[in-house]
Amino acid sequence: MASRPFRDLAQDMSAHPSGEQNRPGTDTSRPLGFACIRCSTSYPADVTIDSKGCARCREIAPANLRPVYATPQLLALAGATSSRSLWRFAHMLPCTESEAVSLGEGLTPLLAAPRIGAFLGVPNLAIKDEGRNPTWSHKDRFSTVAVSVARANGARIVATASSGNAGASLAAYAARAGLKCVVTTFAGSAGAMLAQIRKYGATVLPLASKMDRWSLLEQAAARYDWFIASPYHGPVVGSHPLGIEGYKTIAYEIVEQSDGAAPDWCVLPVCYGDALSGVWAGFCELFAQGAIARLPRLVAAEVHGSLAEALASGADSLSERKMLFDSIAVSIGTPRSTFQALKALRESGGHAVPVNNHGLIAMQERLAREEGIFAELASVTPLIAISKLKNQGIVRGSDRVVAVVTASGLKDLDRSAGSNEHDQIFETTGDAWRWLDQSGLDLAS
Ligand SMILES: [Zn+2]
Repeated sequence: MASRPFRDLAQDMSAHPSGEQNRPGTDTSRPLGFACIRCSTSYPADVTIDSKGCARCREIAPANLRPVYATPQLLALAGATSSRSLWRFAHMLPCTESEAVSLGEGLTPLLAAPRIGAFLGVPNLAIKDEGRNPTWSHKDRFSTVAVSVARANGARIVATASSGNAGASLAAYAARAGLKCVVTTFAGSAGAMLAQIRKYGATVLPLASKMDRWSLLEQAAARYDWFIASPYHGPVVGSHPLGIEGYKTIAYEIVEQSDGAAPDWCVLPVCYGDALSGVWAGFCELFAQGAIARLPRLVAAEVHGSLAEALASGADSLSERKMLFDSIAVSIGTPRSTFQALKALRESGGHAVPVNNHGLIAMQERLAREEGIFAELASVTPLIAISKLKNQGIVRGSDRVVAVVTASGLKDLDRSAGSNEHDQIFETTGDAWRWLDQSGLDLAS
């Protein structure tokens, strides 16, 4: 079954039979209900979000839900406040700014990147640097909304299955909110992100089996009503639909920072497609409101190719790909993405580009050296994807391209560190000068 554009869905649901009419002073940001992103089936506002998505689509092509609001009284961009966080867009999010648990997330820079752009053949390249968020990844846009909703609904414990950026981000916002956080990981998880999770005071539960990470969360939701932010059921449909709403603000900011224009292409690293789906929803809202004249095309930089395969076959159900190598882009290394990602790509006329390890560290170092942006390895996969699409003649040299760098390079330094730990120590300044003289550097300023 063909998926329907979001704006149609929004129009359908603005006439939700149980929906309150918009009245001045009412809380219009709270969802009226939910709807399936694939078949548009309506669900009530108090539906249990159980990580399985739409009950009708489950056996055919598992699909996430998304919230449905009353028609907003304020436009997304024109209605933004002067708050110093993404909560300036609270009128487009599922809770109010007074309920928000914030660490000043969002408002990340959109940086022109002409040198790396020229190298890739797209001089009009800009980088949306999401590594500048409070926990150094874009996941903060999700966590600030998810934890705000959890606290507003009386949750005492939030939880996630993640030993990466999502876990670190949720742990930070739980700490900020005064809630407990439980993070399930699999045995062998290590590195800076796990240390970061523990520093925020979260309880980390390593389990021998990857599947048990999910089972434990499913049991916790059923027994104790924990608020589970991550997927915990397969095939994955995506993370909590209300948290995903936070990613819409990436699209709002890109358009604001581009003087009201959408780029030709917006390229993201994609695992389960929460950010891709949220960014697409944000652009669609701006288009429906007349804030942008046209929609961008989206590109998913993925690892194992499940989205490229589904785009090529036309299927709604993604198949699990064989993992032929261990990706160093660990944040996106899933063998199977989601329908929500596929839908965003299809609706935008976009592409999915599988990216392997080849050239990834070199591209990371080039981005850092030429533009001053040090990105996580997964976050430079968009640059490889752009290069491939340019070489195929799909992206043109005159196109305006935005690459979303999702996290800081400090997050996976253990995988990307070069030879700098072997730098020699100079005993005297004379030794250092002799080395500099022979180094090939032009020493005169
Ligand atoms: Zn459905």
